[in-house]
Amino acid sequence: MKILILSTPVGALSSGIGGGVELTIYNLIQEMQLRHHQVTVVAPKGSKFANANIIEIDGNVHIPAQTQTRNTPITMPENSVLGNMWEYARQVQSDYDVLVNFAFDWLPFYLTPFFQTSIAHFISMGSLSDSLDQIMAETALQYPDNFAVYTQAQADTFPFPEVCQCLSSGIDLSLYKFQPSAEKKLAWLGRIAPEKALEDAVKASDITQIPLLIFGKIQDEDYWQNIVQEYPNAPITYKGFLSTTDLQQELGNCSALLMTPRWIEAFGNVAIEALACGVPVISYARGGPAEIVTDGKTGFLVTPDSIDELVTAIARIPQIERTICRQIAEQEYSLQVWGDRFEAWLKSLIVNS
Ligand code: UDP
Repeated sequence: MKILILSTPVGALSSGIGGGVELTIYNLIQEMQLRHHQVTVVAPKGSKFANANIIEIDGNVHIPAQTQTRNTPITMPENSVLGNMWEYARQVQSDYDVLVNFAFDWLPFYLTPFFQTSIAHFISMGSLSDSLDQIMAETALQYPDNFAVYTQAQADTFPFPEVCQCLSSGIDLSLYKFQPSAEKKLAWLGRIAPEKALEDAVKASDITQIPLLIFGKIQDEDYWQNIVQEYPNAPITYKGFLSTTDLQQELGNCSALLMTPRWIEAFGNVAIEALACGVPVISYARGGPAEIVTDGKTGFLVTPDSIDELVTAIARIPQIERTICRQIAEQEYSLQVWGDRFEAWLKSLIVNS
């Protein structure tokens, strides 16, 4: 297949602003190239991926949907990078068998009937906007095979869950070293932004006085500063936004990953990265992580927003066998298994077009 991937317009690839979708795009390129498909990526200027042929597009980035309210009108910045990316796609579409959209934005859904080449829409977040839901639902009616998501919990947030194919996620397990033992410290990992509720993990660290290492892009500086000021005695260390190689090394040395999302997390790539290192995951029982973590086996699922239950679960970490965490990652989240599902979905769209 000749595949054209259209990235998210919220920031350059490798900046961390795109969150888990950046890793998902990286992995898709890797896996499809291994299968001898020809892959090209269209992404905002400044995007860098070692494995990819990237067409960098100029223009202004878009505001991430999760920073808006449900009824915020759809807006386009002047000289929109998304508009420019899709104009490029329009011009070259006949050179490709399928286009893969990773933007959680109104425009690519609206454009779908105007393109001759099939557009596969990979939805990277749960429902956040009424206008976006509406255009997605209209597009899904006409193109029911063209929608895929990470998890069922994510699909269920939309008015069209029945058409969503759940593809889950996968990672290159060879990049994540299994670490059989760990130090007494916890990890928190992801974009530092209100929907991720880092403050809950910091509270748990404050109560238990177990060090918490924080990794990820600071997307909302005020939010981060408030946390630092509010919990001066919490033993937290901000480690920055690390490459996968450095991240897995540090993460593998932690006794558990805390996931405290306030929103319905579509998946949580960080959960499977932790499991791959042998690190148990303690998460709120909502959204994607609730489908990934098996309570008592690969970590603990606690009542959402309950700090008390987080603290109780932290005390139970020694009950989890780190080898089982790695085993589950190998069985369920290999790049190959995920690649089979993704490839089959893309092929089905070409056959049907
Ligand atoms: N991440 C990273 N380096 C860091 C911290 C995070 O590369 O120091 C990546 C991590 O590998 C994951 C992403 O950031 O792919 C966070 O994705 P997740 O799916 O957990 O959440 P999202 O940001 O998409 O809501």
